Amino acid sequence: MDWRELSKQQQTVAKVLRHAITRKELAHAYLLEGPKGTGKHQTAMLVTQTLFCESPTEQGPCMECRNCRRIGSGNHPDVIWVAPEEGAASIKKEQIAYLMKEFAYRGVESGRKVFIIEQAEKMTAQAENSLLKFIEEPHPGTLAFLVTEHIHQLLDTIISRCQVLTFVPLSDRALEERMTQDGLPRQLLKPAAALTHDYEEASRLCKEEWFAEARSQVLQLMQRLYKSLESALPYIYEKFTPNFDNTQKMAVGLDLMLFWYRDLLSLHLNRQEEIVYEDQMDALKEQMLSRSSDQTIRAMSLILDARRQLDAHVNGVSVMERLVIRLGGSHK
Ligand SMILES: [Zn+2]
Repeated sequence: MDWRELSKQQQTVAKVLRHAITRKELAHAYLLEGPKGTGKHQTAMLVTQTLFCESPTEQGPCMECRNCRRIGSGNHPDVIWVAPEEGAASIKKEQIAYLMKEFAYRGVESGRKVFIIEQAEKMTAQAENSLLKFIEEPHPGTLAFLVTEHIHQLLDTIISRCQVLTFVPLSDRALEERMTQDGLPRQLLKPAAALTHDYEEASRLCKEEWFAEARSQVLQLMQRLYKSLESALPYIYEKFTPNFDNTQKMAVGLDLMLFWYRDLLSLHLNRQEEIVYEDQMDALKEQMLSRSSDQTIRAMSLILDARRQLDAHVNGVSVMERLVIRLGGSHK
């Protein structure tokens, strides 16, 4: 990510930070908050590398010098990352204590020190309180980034001492544009972008064999269901459910099914630009003609119901079985 890209995705954030860097008026602590996949982590990285880079350009850090590389790999002595330890539910007081110690005693290479706390809302109250003292009396040259998706879980006293930068979700269009530039196939990037607003996650999905397979199985299921329940049921037992063998995958499967009906509805409403399965236009049009928009909406609510059952830990196979039977009935 460079500054130009950040400006495209998060105009306000980019403007504020760039201006502060140019004028050497960075705040001591920034709270980067907003939904997943909106570039908070990359922004903290971009600012940090811009500050430490040996030969930055107008667009940002060079990404090649020793400092850029060490920051990128998490090995710069003056840049400290803190996050909940793997599998841990919280950031502990000891982790914050470690961070403060690093800053207080360690011989450092430059006058500047940056620390970045990921999932800051996961700090224990004790951790937050000890951090509070630290950001109230910052050492000169210290810059803090607190990164969170859940700002309201942080203490008000922490929030009020940081400059809050809010990240907005990427529009579907911006996400699709970015993925198209990456050369990802359109038939995958459309459903991936519809599934998540997280660029990294959407790109990862597009590169996964499983996802391509999932998409084509959902499309098959939709065709079979259109023909008859009798052809759909054996398909879910033999082909479909073995491939969606955990809750997360099944949730993706349900969403992919939902997009099919949403596409049918978009056709009913003449909103062709919103269609996810663009390459299935013939099949969509055929099905649209034999199904009213009310029937389509009913099918969508059945899928959302199934999604809720899945969230309530009902077994994935039974959820799907029940759904397919109900969808089969709803077409008549
Ligand atoms: Zn550099």
